Formats: sequence, C-alpha cells, structure tokens
Amino acid sequence: MKQRLLFLGPPGAGKGTQAERLCAAHELMHLSTGDLLRAEVGAKTSLGQEAAAVMNRGELVSDELVLAIVENQLKNQSGGWLLDGFPRTLIQATALEPLLEELKQPIEAVVLLELNDAVLIERLISRGRSDDNESVIRNRLEVYREKTAPLIDHYRQQGLLQTVEAHGSIESIAISIEKSLC
Ligand code: AMP
Repeated sequence: MKQRLLFLGPPGAGKGTQAERLCAAHELMHLSTGDLLRAEVGAKTSLGQEAAAVMNRGELVSDELVLAIVENQLKNQSGGWLLDGFPRTLIQATALEPLLEELKQPIEAVVLLELNDAVLIERLISRGRSDDNESVIRNRLEVYREKTAPLIDHYRQQGLLQTVEAHGSIESIAISIEKSLC
C-alpha cells in the first residue's frame, strides 16, 4: 500500500475517523493539524492562545503557523505518514512541495472524501465540538470551498487524486479507501 498520503475533503466528511483507522492498521504517522492545534489550545501555549480565537470562528490559522508545525513533525519521521487537514490552502500545498523534496519523501496519493452538504452539516452538529455550532459550521464549509477545494484540481493535475464517496458505514468507507491506495 502507498505510504505517504494526504486526505482532502470538507469538514465532517470523516477524515479524522478514517485517518485514525488507516494509520493504526498500517503503522503510519497520523499528522492532523487540527488535533495538533487543539493540543496547543488545551495546553494554553502562546501558539494555542493565538490559534483559539481563529479556530472558534471557523477561519484558518496562518499558513506560517501550520507550516512550522508540519515541518517539525515531518523532519522527525522516517516511516510513512498521512496528512489530515493539511494542506488547506494553495500556499500551504506549494510550500509543502520543496520540503518533501528535501526530505526525499514525495506524496504517493491524495484521497478526496466526498459528501454532500446536508449530510456534512448534520454530522458536524451531532459531533458537538466547540467550533461546531451552525453558523461556524457554515463558515467552515465556505472557507473549505473558497480556500481548500482548489487543491482538488492541483492534485488531480499531478495525477495523485483518488476520489472516495464518504457515504455509508465507517467500515465500508474504510474498504473503499484501502482499495484506492493499492
Ligand atoms: P480540523 O480538525 O482539521 O477540522 O481543524 C480545526 C480547525 O483548526 C480549523 O477550522 C482551522 O481553524 C484550524 N486548522 C487545522 N488545520 C489547518 C490548516 N492546515 N491551515 C489552517 N488552519 C487549520
């Protein structure tokens, strides 16, 4: 199976759940910028305090900040990895490329998890995270369409994109993802 992966898709598509399963099954490092940022917020570091207000509005934290976090994690990694929730802008995707080149660790596949808005909103509301109330959710979806969705074409043009329908049970989606990575 491919070992250096990226998950793309709107908030609520199940990236985190599927990433955890896949990483546990194949011993990949799960690098979720959302989880790393929430850990900083929880630990009340200065970085966390800077990020918290932005996250609670459903906006994106600065490219510089997430790039520094990701660079630090990837530099200390020799095995496979899965990037979940990063990159989220073309600037982040473009900055990632020379870093991976330097590490001689190119991306092998980008999995796009697709799901319609009605199901996404329902899932996000039932999740109950502090950045999951309805107006913030709508903002996060808008930010996704505007800033992150352009990455779909970016990776399609590089021949890396695999699209998986994120409907159905966790198990059946996991099987579709695994098939797309063979
Ligand atoms: P997530 O858990 O991936 O939904 O991320 C939660 C929040 O963390 C997002 O709404 C953003 O505010 C922030 N965040 C996570 N990853 C990134 C990223 N790559 N770039 C900018 N902000 C991010």
